[in-house]
Amino acid sequence: MTSMTQSFTRWPVIEKDPRDFRVRPNLLDYADTCAAFTWDDARRALTGAPPAEATGGVVSSGTAMNIAYEAVDRHAEGPNAGKDALRFIGADGAAHSLTFARLAEETSRFASVLRELGIGSGDRVFSLLGRVPELYVAVLGTVKNASVFCPLFAAFGPDPIAQRMTLGDGKVLVTTRALYRRKIVPIRGELPELRHVLIVDAEGSPEEGTLDLAALMAAAPDYGPIAATDREDMALLHFTSGTTGTPKGAIHVHDAVTAHYATGLFALDLHPDDVFWCTADPGWVTGTSYGVIAPLVHGVTTIVDTEEMEVERWYRILEEQRVTVWYTAPTALRMLMRGGVSRARSHDLGALRFVASVGEPLNPEVVIWGQEAFGIPVHDNWWQTETGGIMIANYAAMQIKPGSMGQPLPGVFAAIVARDSEGRPILDDEGLPVLVTEEFEVGELALRPGWPSMFRGYLHEQERYERSFVGGWYLTGDLVRRDRDGYYFFVGRGDDIIKSSGHLIGPFEVETALLEHAAVAEAAVIGIPDEVAGEIVTAYVVLHPGWEATDALRLDIIGFARRRLGPAVAPRELEFTDEVPKTRSGKILRRLLKARALGLPEGDTSTVERPQ
Ligand code: ATP
Ligand code: MG
Repeated sequence: MTSMTQSFTRWPVIEKDPRDFRVRPNLLDYADTCAAFTWDDARRALTGAPPAEATGGVVSSGTAMNIAYEAVDRHAEGPNAGKDALRFIGADGAAHSLTFARLAEETSRFASVLRELGIGSGDRVFSLLGRVPELYVAVLGTVKNASVFCPLFAAFGPDPIAQRMTLGDGKVLVTTRALYRRKIVPIRGELPELRHVLIVDAEGSPEEGTLDLAALMAAAPDYGPIAATDREDMALLHFTSGTTGTPKGAIHVHDAVTAHYATGLFALDLHPDDVFWCTADPGWVTGTSYGVIAPLVHGVTTIVDTEEMEVERWYRILEEQRVTVWYTAPTALRMLMRGGVSRARSHDLGALRFVASVGEPLNPEVVIWGQEAFGIPVHDNWWQTETGGIMIANYAAMQIKPGSMGQPLPGVFAAIVARDSEGRPILDDEGLPVLVTEEFEVGELALRPGWPSMFRGYLHEQERYERSFVGGWYLTGDLVRRDRDGYYFFVGRGDDIIKSSGHLIGPFEVETALLEHAAVAEAAVIGIPDEVAGEIVTAYVVLHPGWEATDALRLDIIGFARRRLGPAVAPRELEFTDEVPKTRSGKILRRLLKARALGLPEGDTSTVERPQ
């Protein structure tokens, strides 16, 4: 495969000084921890199964496990009972908490409600809710009842909702009165499987065809048996972000909690006294795996902001709630960066000891900015809906190479598979993928199946599921390279790679260089087909406030990128735009830019943040 330029290496490595550790990091020696780690050990750190009294006398087998029991009830039975499990921050900044004991009760009531309604093992319960307490109760109450939970973004329109609920065979929907009227009424007739709509704010007078959740909860017992589910029973259904096409429904099982536990321990460095804030919406996988399950499993208090992102508000939450571990996304960090270092510094963020980011490539500049703004760098990590949990990460005790997503988690075996010029994996005579061994050679990131939060299927797409495994490896669809120390660098999604005059160009690398120009606030880069070059690197750029979109500035930015990247990789075309299209989970939708540039149909736009 053609080699690629390496612009990251000019960023200084960030060393960690043990004298700076405020708490002892959970992962101190990477090599030793990886060598000693087994998933069975991680399972042993959990309870393994609800005890017979919790299961209503059912004696569970050796492979029983229930996410809700691990996340809530076992804490509610011990010294954490009175501790805040979830702390909701309202519009006025006031906090409202649910303790572990209360969460255990509420989730049991919710499970009882489902049972009374005849909803059982494997039945799908969907939610269409903002970050309200009922959403969290529904996630955990559903899995307590052995049913399967599937969150939907509250901002989805009727069509994407219908599409997902049909694909997912949704039997129950939990939502609000307003969302029901606006989005479900128009499609209710298309959802014959949908048996019950539970309204969280019915206030005693539910609409026709719906039920009042609060009334049902009040009538239900707050103690009920927890299903003694098997590790391999389906627990969660998550739709992918739809960045590359129609979203896929990834199936996850109860054993995923083992990975949530281990990754919370190693990648997020969770300690019992932490105050943790994951800014992702539970409508996508990060918001459930790390906004709900992982911190609860660790008995940690989790902050939930019920409002939308706003720079000043976020700083206030970090400050007032004394957040210690913060898990957020590159888009949000770039927005904070646009607000300037001084804004961050005008708040007391002294409690913060660990910041992590996921979802998109994290520009090295942002890692460094974190150090200036928060006094600590941002730790990038990588995973996807299919992996169910963090797979590659930068760790609290280890050096960071800005631009690198870090190294595989203990128990996770990663490799890089060579690809041919069509982007297919190259196989040897025995049908096994050829692995890349050269430093910095680009190939597809592959993972060895066996980690507990691996998806167990794409719902109703068995063939597609099978196609993603080749010769004993799961192929992720992402292109990466690795340095001699084993640090992984993201190059791009297989689908986004630009082929121009014999070079393979990762859009992220070009976007990162553009972002270093003082005028550039955001950049998205795609390849536009060209007879001579194959593809022409084309950039869409959003300017910082105060800059004028002139031709001179356009040429200046192109010249700047050429000096950074060389003429073969720098954009040949550059257009100014007010906004870069993104998914609701904050990912740049390059396929949409490309379709628009070529005048082609836009394809699935159900996850576009703000249709333009
Ligand atoms: P779809 O599969 O429907 O196209 P999607 O892949 O965007 O959507 P997700 O599973 O939410 O859906 O996103 C996972 C993808 O996000 C990864 O495969 C990768 O491309 C990108 N990603 C996640 N974390 C990082 C990271 N730290 N650096 C670079 N890319 C990342
Ligand atoms: Mg994907």
